[in-house]
Amino acid sequence: MTDRIYYTESSCRAFGAVVTRVVEHEGRPAVLLDRTAFYPTSGGQPFDTGRLGTVDVLETVDQDDDVLHVVSAQVAEGLRVHCEIDWARRFDHMQQHTGQHVLSAAFDRLLDNRTMSFHMGADAATIDLARDVSPADVERCVDEANRIVWEDRPVTIRFASPEEAARLPLRKEPVRQGPLRLIEVSDFDVSACGGTHVARTGEIGMIAVTGAERFRGGSRLTFVCGGRALRTLRTYRDAVVGSVRSLSVLPHELPSAIERMQLEHKQTRKTVSRLQASLAVHEASRLLAEAPEGDGIRVVVQVLDGWDASGLKAIATAMTAHEKVAVALFSSAPPIAVVVARSPDGGIDANAILQQLLARFGGRGGGKADLAQGAGLTGDPNEIIAAARSSIERSVRL
Ligand SMILES: [Zn+2]
Repeated sequence: MTDRIYYTESSCRAFGAVVTRVVEHEGRPAVLLDRTAFYPTSGGQPFDTGRLGTVDVLETVDQDDDVLHVVSAQVAEGLRVHCEIDWARRFDHMQQHTGQHVLSAAFDRLLDNRTMSFHMGADAATIDLARDVSPADVERCVDEANRIVWEDRPVTIRFASPEEAARLPLRKEPVRQGPLRLIEVSDFDVSACGGTHVARTGEIGMIAVTGAERFRGGSRLTFVCGGRALRTLRTYRDAVVGSVRSLSVLPHELPSAIERMQLEHKQTRKTVSRLQASLAVHEASRLLAEAPEGDGIRVVVQVLDGWDASGLKAIATAMTAHEKVAVALFSSAPPIAVVVARSPDGGIDANAILQQLLARFGGRGGGKADLAQGAGLTGDPNEIIAAARSSIERSVRL
């Protein structure tokens, strides 16, 4: 059974211990110590990392009465080691965890809204509240939680028998049997918890809720405390400062400015596609006018600048609305797109022509006898055009 120093002393960041056993955990070397300040993942709080003698502690795992330390290299049994916890990581976890107790207590006291679960991620933590909560109520509880932070109240650890605990105003019923470890935020909250906590609420620094969503009939709130609140503020600042500069608006005007731009963009797209459609008709007439008119089928093979695949299709469709036309149109910018089409009396199988081109110049595509589309052709444009022209002319003559 490992003596857990962090149970009574959350501020312990270095300690001496003896390696009592060497084991394996999921294929990696792991050791048990007679005593440890390394916190194993539990109760929503992630594990500690750090140094154990000359090796790294990569993960700490709760295993029944023991604490497993997954290490970067083998360590000898019986060795006396000096251990150090990665304090920046642990202190961050303590800020989030104590912050969670204060925040949950605020929702409990002001709204009688219970915290059902708590999860701490790498960038933000979440709590799931039993009931839905309005944005105004979230702000009210966040204000209350920060008041407790700024009053710098003591946070203490004490142990109680189940009988003693039953007489205390615990925020939620404990799930464990036997003696309970209680975390008390002076005159504000008492909860049964095995986690590590700061000694005074002032160390939490600040509690900020960054998101709220409906979740399982209640609310899931995302929050950040202390250093994470500062990092989040910096991220938001950089995003907002960059955006207001390029849009020339004030920060609070950003959402409506973006909405306006999206609307304008949608209207512009509509206008462009209408103009493109009418331009396609003109382009089709121009191309047909240039094509030699005889009693046979008019063949048009062209590279068109500034048209994408859908533009090429619109032009080809407009051209083949005329009688006796067979066309192959290519985009100028790589990867080259192509449309092959014909009028009902156009004399070619458009898909067959396309497949011949794809077989020789690569790319993919398909279609029917009257219209086929492809993209991703590679090679010398002049060679591609020559190939298209000769295979169309060959099948027209047949
Ligand atoms: Zn806790």
